[in-house]
Amino acid sequence: MTSRSLASTAAAIVLVAALASVPLFASGYHLALGISLLYFTVLATAWAMFSGPTHYISLATAAFFGIGAYTTAVLTDFLPWPVVILAAMVVGILIALVVGLSTLRLSGIYFVIFSFGLAELIRQIVTWYEVNIAGSIGRYIFADTTTEGIYWRLLALAGMVLGAGWLIRHSRLGLAVRVIGQDEMVARHCGIDTTRAKLVLFAVSAAFMTVTGAVMAPRWTYLDPMIAFSPVVSFEVVIMALFGGAGTLFGPLLGVIPLVLLFDVLGAYFPNYFSILLGLVFILIVYALPRGVVGLLQQRLPALRRAALQVKMSAPAETVMRPVWPRAAERMAAGDAPVLQLANVRKSFGGLVAVDDLSFDLKRGEILGLIGPNGSGKTTALNLISGAILPDAGEISLEGRPITLLPAHRIAQRGVARTFQLVRVLGESSCRENVIAGMAFHGPGLWGAAADARADALLARVGLGDKADTPAGQLTYIDQKRLELARALALDPDVLLLDEWLAGLNPSELQVGIALVRMLREEGLTIIIVEHVMDAIRSLCDRCVVMNTGRKIAEGPPSAVLADREVIRAYLGDADD
Ligand code: ADP
Ligand code: MG
Repeated sequence: MTSRSLASTAAAIVLVAALASVPLFASGYHLALGISLLYFTVLATAWAMFSGPTHYISLATAAFFGIGAYTTAVLTDFLPWPVVILAAMVVGILIALVVGLSTLRLSGIYFVIFSFGLAELIRQIVTWYEVNIAGSIGRYIFADTTTEGIYWRLLALAGMVLGAGWLIRHSRLGLAVRVIGQDEMVARHCGIDTTRAKLVLFAVSAAFMTVTGAVMAPRWTYLDPMIAFSPVVSFEVVIMALFGGAGTLFGPLLGVIPLVLLFDVLGAYFPNYFSILLGLVFILIVYALPRGVVGLLQQRLPALRRAALQVKMSAPAETVMRPVWPRAAERMAAGDAPVLQLANVRKSFGGLVAVDDLSFDLKRGEILGLIGPNGSGKTTALNLISGAILPDAGEISLEGRPITLLPAHRIAQRGVARTFQLVRVLGESSCRENVIAGMAFHGPGLWGAAADARADALLARVGLGDKADTPAGQLTYIDQKRLELARALALDPDVLLLDEWLAGLNPSELQVGIALVRMLREEGLTIIIVEHVMDAIRSLCDRCVVMNTGRKIAEGPPSAVLADREVIRAYLGDADD
């Protein structure tokens, strides 16, 4: 252990001891305040655990908190408290899974509204049950728990939620949701099962909220649905987490401390205007501090920002022509059955048939050019292959097995990687993390030091060797395109789909790009390029499929198809056609 980590461990122990000893000298109002600080710390940190990375603003905190409180109210007479808390956790997780499955497909404002509605719905159901089945609206809680006991349990819970938050941030699950929050389409194409990742994290976050409710319940002695499911809690938690900064582990804590105190004062002096004041605080925070106190600190203290990004200068930027993935040999040994087959594939958007009865084979190790005028359906064809969208009819198979209806993440895991016509990088993540995203979610999934090393090798491969720690959003357009290729290669794919990847390169960059694509093929990749740059098509493609208005109009070697009368007509839009 270094002396520095020794010092921080010692500091942590002193801090925990100090916090744990609070009930020994504080009581009454001060202890109650300590309890408020702790339970909001747990709720806000748990909230940010899910909503921070995914950007799904949840107003369901009160629902889970209330479920926890009610579980205690119902079970505390029969069971010892550890079992009650465990039961609350299980109930919370089960409800989170059911709710998550039905709502996590919703996005943006729909999710916000639904999560709010959920809390109300559960409150109504509990009220109905209490009135019609249990026979009275409220319950008395006779738990033999002291205020000090509640404080200590909450302190332990706060430690656990921060610990879990740290572990998740550094885990594959954490990476998955960071990718999802930035670009769900990219996430799916990296092999991330987006539904599962969101669901798991939603359930973990809900478990902490539910347990908080279960621990807090004895504070009230008398509990009814209005108390347990108070929607104010949901709003307070969102405000605190956003104020502190939902993107970092300790951000919510920075919001909890001042705002618990503020809300305490507002509640005491202006009880009738509390909701209005809460709303005003919320608006103020969203406008003045979109990235929270943490964001402000990072802005003011560049040193902090640099530390966060761990900027380091490494190899100079140079395109390294050297294979960096393990499966190249295996790929070259494979037979020569078509790698990918499209048979009578069709896709329409409303009345517009974007891809019409399209069939072609992709032979192993070839570069197939998919060309045609703008709007002829090339990108849609790639979207159908990668699983970004589902075809209306037809069959697509990879290595002889159908992938027609597979979700995008499964197709990516089977070895189809792509870039996007409008470049899509994860702007807030470093270049290295962008590439690791492509690496961590298929096969055994590379992680840790091995993933870092391989990501750096891939970055060097595309000429971004010196940018590993740079946020992708700060790259130039061309560098973003290179990064996207590195991320696609990180999947160690058999089939690579490049959608106008060479567009916008200057002549010397174009030569490097062409050489790179050719190199990839020599290493055994099978490639489809959608391209308008005729030089690239002529020099790279073994074969071309030409599309026009969704249909295949020609197929063959580039020299032949580019001389074809119908192809020329399609490109020039001949009037007498
Ligand atoms: P290309 O890549 O060859 O330029 P696209 O595949 O992008 O062409 O588009 C083919 C046609 O399908 C265009 O007319 C386009 O407007 C339409 N299209 C593509 N995607 C969608 C979509 N998601 N919704 C509606 N229309 C679409
Ligand atoms: Mg296109």
